[in-house]
Amino acid sequence: MDLSAPLAPAPATPVALRFHPLPATVLDRVRGTGRDALDRPAERLCAEGGEPLRCCLRDAVPGEGLLLFGFAPPLPESPYREVGAVFAHAAPCPRPADPAAYPGDWRGRPQVLRAYDGRGRIHEATRVHDGR
Ligand SMILES: [Zn+2]
Repeated sequence: MDLSAPLAPAPATPVALRFHPLPATVLDRVRGTGRDALDRPAERLCAEGGEPLRCCLRDAVPGEGLLLFGFAPPLPESPYREVGAVFAHAAPCPRPADPAAYPGDWRGRPQVLRAYDGRGRIHEATRVHDGR
């Protein structure tokens, strides 16, 4: 594999995109144990405002109690499997009303969308998204 080769061009066909909040089982475990995917302690903090919450798919407002912890997406074991830092409310919160909708607070915010294939390898659809 030539690691210096340019990335594959983006697919010309639009891809359906869905945003999923973190699974309730993950949130319950972190909130209950204070430990993350690597058994490290979750950080408890007070929101400054604007933190993207992976529990209810909106931005935090100043003063909300949050957890910052490592989350591993449910992928097959692979060298590409990563743990990324995510924010969630420290206490249970309502799930998003429409999980098929692009989270309103996140529109216009550049985001990296990392896609994986069935083997857990990074897919060529991985890209930076401009938030539109
Ligand atoms: Zn929440």
